[in-house]
Amino acid sequence: MVVAEKVHKSFGRLEVLRGIDLEVRRGEVMCVIGPSGSGKSTFLRCVNHLEKVTSGRLWVNGQLMGYRQKGGKLYELRDTQVAAQRRGIGMVFQNFNLFPHMSVLGNVMEAPVQVKGEKKNEVRENALHLLERVGLADKAASYPRQLSGGQQQRVAIARALAMRPDLMLFDEPTSALDPELVGEVLDVMKDLAEEGMTMIVVTHEMGFAREVGDSLVFMDGGVVVESGAPRDVLGSPRHERTQAFLSKVL
Ligand code: ADP
Ligand code: MG
Repeated sequence: MVVAEKVHKSFGRLEVLRGIDLEVRRGEVMCVIGPSGSGKSTFLRCVNHLEKVTSGRLWVNGQLMGYRQKGGKLYELRDTQVAAQRRGIGMVFQNFNLFPHMSVLGNVMEAPVQVKGEKKNEVRENALHLLERVGLADKAASYPRQLSGGQQQRVAIARALAMRPDLMLFDEPTSALDPELVGEVLDVMKDLAEEGMTMIVVTHEMGFAREVGDSLVFMDGGVVVESGAPRDVLGSPRHERTQAFLSKVL
């Protein structure tokens, strides 16, 4: 579902990603951990082409993100074509990023109606079903400000799912939540994983990584220092940098 090949990303002289190679198979959950500033968010943003890679390639669901290959040459896609690629990828951010002036239902309906031009009745039905799935059927008419952080994040997940993505990207989805609200969001993510969604999850929740992750990647300084089965990486890290990081967070 996702293949990253020698992905480099620089901002001016700052090289943030320094050759990332990794693969996520369909239906798998890959968790990504690493210190602040190691390039985790930048990598996620490259996956859905919110950032252009400086070099290297990223395929999602068999499509080369941002480019078309023809006769061994690469041609940059136009914005509308990139937007079409991006539609298959849902993203959930640390700070929910809900539309404050729209109801919960409105938030979940917005993209399928505006971007995909789907029929409102069908979109509404699906949106209500998704809200039920994240345990918020009774909040459809509420506004984001009336919800707790955990509820807002569950709406954000429902909103991303409304586009029927093949891949979901989560960037520290529980980092902005009060501790007692973390579990309800992780439970929704766990359900999603069990239903077979392919997911890349940047997180500090080692319990989630261990229990739900099929693989775990430790990033530091813009490279993948170590990756493998979560229990191996967490239980017997091979690299000193991984050990040092885990000793601080576990
Ligand atoms: P992480 O998510 O692991 O904390 P980030 O990917 O957010 O790390 O950032 C990695 C580095 O890239 C940081 O030094 C950050 O300041 C820098 N960076 C991220 N985005 C930009 C940008 N748009 N312009 C310049 N520097 C950036
Ligand atoms: Mg980040």
